[in-house]
Amino acid sequence: MLYIPTRIFFGTGALSKAQSHITKLGKKALIVCGKTSAQKSGVMADILPLLAKNGISHHVYAKVSENPTTDMVMEGKEEYGTHLCDFIIGIGGGSPMDAAKAISLAAANNLAKHQLYDANLQQRAVPIVAIPTTHGTGSEVTPYSVLTDLASHKKAGFGSELIFPRIAVINPQYMLSQSYEVSLHTSIDALSHLLEGIYSTQRNPLLYPMIFRGIRLIMDNLSLCLKTPRHLPYREALALAATYGGIAIAHTSTTLQHAIGYPFTTEYGISHGLVNGMFMEAIMRFYAEALQDEFDQLFAALDLSMQEFFEWLEGFPIKIQLEVTDCQLKSWIPQILAARNTIISPRKPTEDQLFKLLKSVQKG
Ligand code: NAP
Ligand code: ZN
Repeated sequence: MLYIPTRIFFGTGALSKAQSHITKLGKKALIVCGKTSAQKSGVMADILPLLAKNGISHHVYAKVSENPTTDMVMEGKEEYGTHLCDFIIGIGGGSPMDAAKAISLAAANNLAKHQLYDANLQQRAVPIVAIPTTHGTGSEVTPYSVLTDLASHKKAGFGSELIFPRIAVINPQYMLSQSYEVSLHTSIDALSHLLEGIYSTQRNPLLYPMIFRGIRLIMDNLSLCLKTPRHLPYREALALAATYGGIAIAHTSTTLQHAIGYPFTTEYGISHGLVNGMFMEAIMRFYAEALQDEFDQLFAALDLSMQEFFEWLEGFPIKIQLEVTDCQLKSWIPQILAARNTIISPRKPTEDQLFKLLKSVQKG
């Protein structure tokens, strides 16, 4: 079964096409964004006049940083209530969009910080419009929100059908302003999602044509985009791939490939996409036997071998090695093994196997 309740508007002019749907959502919007990307991307310059023209007022909560925290969600919830908003517009990369989704649930159900992950309390949500400015997470078409809790130092996601955005406005022009690093890392995140659509035990062959096409688009366009970052067709291809990746994981969820990276982001500040890239080859090799049939289909569709795929991947600066002790790596094993995305992996690692995977990024 495939199910996505989000109206997806893609391409140049996507916001104008979405206008009549956005204006039905209410009279006041809480705009949730980061410090700079909503401006740099050009979204604010387009959305504010559109709202004003339609008699919709707004309040901006622009304090979402990378790896949004549960504290930011609580602050956003307060702003939503204080300013009597009716709906939320999340603008940015995955971080503001994920914060927007969690604020929606927190506001609609009056949740306290410790209740954010409690599925029983997630009874309703306020409508969300998601406008991505990166071609990575696909959060604009997924039912997930990934948050960091500073008290426990843990990063973890949750899923609820209620937080599928009502409307996704995906305009690749809003992605032209990304830096080299953000462009690379978010594309590698999208690649991870596409691969995980095959890895997950919840895989669905109905998604395979989209997944294979998405991987092809990234392989054909990523280097070109990094060399000529303001060339729109490359961004269009990568945005399409990221959307396919989001649609894939909306159905399959992510896997060990994602769970293994969260502690590196929390403890070492390594970006989400980069850490996915650091483990991509090791995880693919780890799954190779369990997924022989799926990999045969994938590499036949791509018309290359797994080795050739690894050689292509080698062309990007994503194989980072870290000064990290065995003791530190071992301390993360219980949380990685218990993560819900590890449980749906095609091959669940033993503690020893996981330690070996973790050590693949250790310096020296
Ligand atoms: P991000 O954390 O949202 O943003 C990374 C950086 O890029 C920020 O400094 C941001 O600036 C900047 N930026 C974003 N768009 C830009 C643009 N067009 N021009 C210039 N700068 C721009 O990055 P992300 O990789 O998209 O999101 C990662 C988060 O999403 C992680 O927390 C990850 O766990 C989560 N995630 C969620 C899902 C899901 O389904 N919900 C899936 C995968 C990952 P500002 O700070 O100014 O915004
Ligand atoms: Zn991801």
